[in-house]
Order: sequence, then C-alpha cells, then structure tokens
Amino acid sequence: MGATLANLLQQLEPGLELVVLERLPALAAESSAAMNNAGTGHAANCELNYTPQAADGSVPTAKALAINASFERSLELWSSLVERQVLADPQAFIRPVPHLSFVWGEDSVAFLQRRHQALAATPQFAAMVWSTDPAQLREWMPLVMQGRPLDQPLAATRVARGTDVNFGALSQQLLAGVEVRRGHEVVALQRQGPDWIVQVRTADGGLQRFQAPFVFLGAGGGSLPLLQRSGIPEGRIYGAFPVSGQWLVCRNPAVIAAHNAKVYGKAAVGAPPMSVPHLDTRWIDGQRALLFGPYAGFSTRFLKQGSLWDLPNSVRPSNLLPTLQVGLENFELVRYLVGQVVQSAAQRLESLRAFLPEAAAADWELAVAGQRVQIIKQVNGRGRLQMGTEVVCSADGSLAALLGASPGASTAAQTMLELLQQCWPERMAGGAWQQRLRQLIPSWGQDLGGDAELLSRVRERNNRVLGLDPLSR
Ligand SMILES: Cc1cc2nc3c(=O)[nH]c(=O)nc-3n(C[C@H](O)[C@H](O)[C@H](O)COP(=O)(O)OP(=O)(O)OC[C@H]3O[C@@H](n4cnc5c(N)ncnc54)[C@H](O)[C@@H]3O)c2cc1C
Repeated sequence: MGATLANLLQQLEPGLELVVLERLPALAAESSAAMNNAGTGHAANCELNYTPQAADGSVPTAKALAINASFERSLELWSSLVERQVLADPQAFIRPVPHLSFVWGEDSVAFLQRRHQALAATPQFAAMVWSTDPAQLREWMPLVMQGRPLDQPLAATRVARGTDVNFGALSQQLLAGVEVRRGHEVVALQRQGPDWIVQVRTADGGLQRFQAPFVFLGAGGGSLPLLQRSGIPEGRIYGAFPVSGQWLVCRNPAVIAAHNAKVYGKAAVGAPPMSVPHLDTRWIDGQRALLFGPYAGFSTRFLKQGSLWDLPNSVRPSNLLPTLQVGLENFELVRYLVGQVVQSAAQRLESLRAFLPEAAAADWELAVAGQRVQIIKQVNGRGRLQMGTEVVCSADGSLAALLGASPGASTAAQTMLELLQQCWPERMAGGAWQQRLRQLIPSWGQDLGGDAELLSRVRERNNRVLGLDPLSR
C-alpha cells in the first residue's frame, strides 16, 4: 500500500520530496511478501465470500462487480508503469493463472449455479464458464478430480483470465525509485504547527525525527497502534482483531507441475472469509509453486515479528466495549479459530484431501502465512467486526492510515486513489493531477462495469502489456 501510494504521488507530483520508513531490514517482508499471502489477484472470479447468499436465496453481485473493477484499476496502473519503464519485467510480479470455484453437495452446487447465472449475465464476468461434467472438471483440475468419488453433485466455475501476483516483487519494483530508510521503526507521532513530527527508532537503537506536512500510516498490522499514537479523534472508534494463517506448501515437483489453477472452495460454518480453503498455483522467483490453506489461527501479535502485547496494548477506554461486544457476538468465529489452532497434522491433511483426494502427507510442509489484523469499528455505539479495508483520514487531510486487509493488496491502486481523494480533494478534482491520472489510469472517472466497450479496450491493453491474454496460453 505504501509502495503504491509513494509511486502514485511521484507520478502525480514529480519533484515531491517523500520518504518511506520501514522497520525491517528488507522491503515487503511482512504481509506483502510472496509467501505471506495467496498472491491471488482478487477480481472476485473465484472467491465465494464476495457473493454471500441472501436470505431469499438470491446472490447479490454488487461487491463482486466493485472488486472486479478495482482489480482492473490495479492492472491499468501497473500497465502504465510498465510502459513508462517504472516497473521492469511484468512476469516478475504477475502471471496468468485460471481462477476456479469448486463445490460439492446439492446446496453448494445450487448456490454456485445461481452465482454463475447472476455474474455471467454482466460484461465483467461474461467469460465465466460453469460445469458439472466430471470430464470437463478433470480437464480443468486433474489432481483435484483424481481419486474423487462421483457419488455426490460436483460443480465448478472457471475464469481463464485469472492472475497470480507476487505482491512482494511488485512492491520492491514500485519502491525502486523512492527514498526508503530501512531499519527505521516509527514509534511516535506529534502535531507541530501544520506539520507532523515522526519519531523513529533506528536499527542501532538511535532516535531520529522527521518533519512532514503529510503522513501515511501504511504499516499493515502496525497501522492501528500508530493511528492511536497520532491522537487524531477519527482513530478512536477503531479496535483490532488479529487472525493468523498457515499454509501447507507442496514440496513435490511432479504434483506442482500437474496443477495449474487457483481453486477456491466454500468457507466452513463460522470461518472468517479469509479462511476460505484454496489450492493455489503460485509463481515465485520464476518458479511454479503450490500452496493450500490458509488454516486460521490466533495470535495477539499484529505483525509477524510483532509483540504479544500488540492486542492488549491496542485496547483503550474508547474501544474496550466494542471489542468485548465483537468477542461475544462472534462466538462462531472464536470457536472456529480455537478449533483451527488446536487441529492436528492429520486434521490438516484431511482438509487438504477434500481438495486433493490423493494428497500424500510427505509431499506437504506447514509454513507460516502471516497476520491479518481485521478492523473492529464502533458503529452507532456498538462494535462491529469488519473484514474489509478502510482508509482513515484526519479532518484536515494531513494524516491517513490504512486499516484492515481484505481484499488487500489486489485493490491497492483503487484504495490509494480513494485516499488521495480524501486527503487532496481539490488537486484530485482537476488540473495537472486529473490530467496525469487519466494518462495513468485511462478509465479514470468512468464506469468500467457500465461500459462494455471501454471494459474490453481496457482489458485488451492490460492483457497485452502484462502478458495476461488467456488465449495465448
Ligand atoms: C494469509 C493471507 C493471505 C492473503 N492473500 C491475499 C491474496 O491472495 N491477495 C491479496 O490481494 N491480498 C491477500 N492478503 C492481504 C495482503 O497480504 C495485504 O492486504 C497486503 O499485503 C497489505 O499490504 P500493506 O502494505 O498494507 O502491509 P504490509 O505488506 O504488511 O506492509 C506494511 C509494512 O510496514 C512495516 N511497518 C510496520 N510497523 C512499522 C513501524 N512502526 N515503522 C516502520 N515500518 C513499519 C512492516 O514491516 C511492513 O513492511 C492476504 C493476507 C494474508 C495474511
């Protein structure tokens, strides 16, 4: 997120003085690192949690359409940056990988069919294909079908134009022309006149101060504590609920080579949306990889290398009650997380075998996936657990923070553009920024979903520049 914002600002305001402060010695080593997320270019092609079934059985599509358009914006930005040679090799951060949703059992198949009917009727998802035919499913995902009993209904949808994104590699490329101070941990923020004084602890234990008229807190899980330290009133209504994740990583080259898709299933009852099981083909450092998960877990840390005191320290008088309410009202979630934490290797293998019936334990290794810090927000005096991302801005637009982690890195361009709109409404409304934005994101200000011709033009360019054309595979 910070890398995207830094790059956007450089494009919109050449000559602007900006610095990125990073606590770790490496760049993009927290949530955006390749192995700390699933690398799915979230376009709502396969993620069933973006289209939850309504009480009357219908499948609302608004969220899926919005996420799809957001991801296309990210692709537009990356395409422009490739054309401007700001990003070097698109293959280093994005590869085409088909996106599939796969379900079994009568109710789930009926749901997937309704989802397909609703989405495929829109220009954005017109290329989504549906099948219940075992032969077709075998062609799409041979390993998933191998050894699978056919005594219950099965169905899948497939979008050939799906992607795998290495957000770590992308962030590093985005930061290549930006001044970055590594080993610089922000520990405090104070207002001084029109500026912010940002206090930093350096790797050698020293203290430094930076002065700036604008600060973005893009610290991932570390954003909430910094927002609280800034003291802005807009931050008082937030608390946090960390959910950690683990993967099973395939170590057998033959199995990795035999699967080429991101296959998303349905979340278990009570499971948070980010725990939807999926089997992911990945491209990491030019090599194909295969991950399954994530298995959810619970840790009070907000960052992988954070402190166990992160959660207790984030509880303030202003968010204590909402946090307790969320704990009490989300009993199914808490029960699910406890179940995940205590599950055995055999139980993890059983979940994997729901996707790969013939998976061998010896081929898979457990690895840490990372932390997601979900938002607890006070709405009408009550605490609500939110699974999305949220930009929080001070009233004067001098400080902004990004909270939450879903749909995450995929929608970074849209999210950072919204941030710019909140913090610099006048500049975004016209003049040089508006002109540069239209060059950077050609569909800027237009409705991708409502204009099929524009959508196909934008997609054609993104496919060409980023090498995503499904027909070329
Ligand atoms: C299991 C899992 C699977 C996911 N799958 C996907 C997916 O498939 N697709 C997708 O789009 N998204 C996915 N996400 C979400 C995605 O990883 C995040 O939304 C995204 O990486 C967040 O980027 P960020 O820049 O906000 O945070 P980060 O990448 O965590 O960057 C924050 C940076 O701030 C630094 N920092 C923290 N505190 C301080 C401080 N005090 N001072 C200085 N520096 C600090 C950190 O070291 C870090 O480098 C997934 C997340 C998880 C956990």
